[in-house]
Amino acid sequence: MSNLPQQLISDMVAWRHHLHRFPECGFDVNLTADFIADKLKSFGIEVVCNIGQTGLVGILRNGTSDASIGLRADMDALFIHEQNEFDHASQHEGQMHACGHDGHSAMLLGAASYLAANSYFDGTVYFIFQPDEEHGCGAQAMIDDGLFERFAIDEVYGIHNFPGLAEGELMVRPGSLMASESGFEINIEGVGGHAALPHQGVDPLVTGAQVILALQTIVSRNLSAISETAVISATEFITDGTVNVLPGKVTIKGDCRCFTEKTLEHIEQRMKQIVAGICESAGAKYTFQFTNTFYPTVNSPLQTAYAVEAAEKVLGKGKVNARCEPLTISEDFSSMLRVKPGCYVLLGNGTESVGGCALHNPKYDFNDSILPLGARYWIQLVKDRLGRPNG
Ligand SMILES: [Zn+2]
Ligand SMILES: [Zn+2]
Repeated sequence: MSNLPQQLISDMVAWRHHLHRFPECGFDVNLTADFIADKLKSFGIEVVCNIGQTGLVGILRNGTSDASIGLRADMDALFIHEQNEFDHASQHEGQMHACGHDGHSAMLLGAASYLAANSYFDGTVYFIFQPDEEHGCGAQAMIDDGLFERFAIDEVYGIHNFPGLAEGELMVRPGSLMASESGFEINIEGVGGHAALPHQGVDPLVTGAQVILALQTIVSRNLSAISETAVISATEFITDGTVNVLPGKVTIKGDCRCFTEKTLEHIEQRMKQIVAGICESAGAKYTFQFTNTFYPTVNSPLQTAYAVEAAEKVLGKGKVNARCEPLTISEDFSSMLRVKPGCYVLLGNGTESVGGCALHNPKYDFNDSILPLGARYWIQLVKDRLGRPNG
């Protein structure tokens, strides 16, 4: 596919700058969702709003085939005070598009505009715009609100920009691409007392210390070193103690990451057993909470092959790494991949001052020069997956 019309490229930059100027967070993305819905309607695309609160879906049908594809962008920003001073810097105090979701939305709008004007396919394209990716709730909210029942979406695809990867390059892998993220909280209640007379109480600090050490044996002794890569970190150990007093309670908090749901279940089950066993032997009471925020992002092999093929057509064969290493960051597109086959790819945002700044940094900005690349990848994927009615 050749390049996009210059007018469309300028439009995408203008949309991206508009979204960057007016960032919104979480599910409170009403202005953003309205802006996107208006644009889709102006291209002649049917729009259904308020799916999973502020999510929306654009529907573009062509030809007679029942085949369909879902393309997803995230719309939310972060509670960060932007330090950039360019013209399109945030005008919403304390909120900022520091993860490039403004760019993801603009790229998908660009593809929607192009596909609405060029009947390159036979089937239905669903353009999915979701809120609240950053807190890991937006995709699930749209699913719970019937995303995949109300719309007959066969397969889903997502994209994220990736600073540090050169402009014009893309990376992906079949299977686990990104990790899960889960938090845990363990409350241990013993019997406090005089530091000189520990035998009269139940020391929750010593019990808690044993728990923290034993949690480290899950990765080293319970999980396969080959197939169950994981990180378990206790990050807080809180008491209300004072110098000569044994505290009555301690709280341990932490975070864990892994790459399959099987490993995730295994970790939770072993944590429960360790906390219960150590606390019972010490005579301490306990509570244990394990909260999963992001599932592992697991790409379907077949859809990954389609994504690689489309990316190679747009970017060139040498520019696509089809077997990159897994990443310990997380992404809530994982929730959609649990329900439908699909693929998530990472598009280089650049390595220089423009595009090289890390995600979630107050100086970050999406690299406008990759907007046409992302849009062309979407268009190519639609052409490849939905064929063409007239050859
Ligand atoms: Zn982010
Ligand atoms: Zn992001």
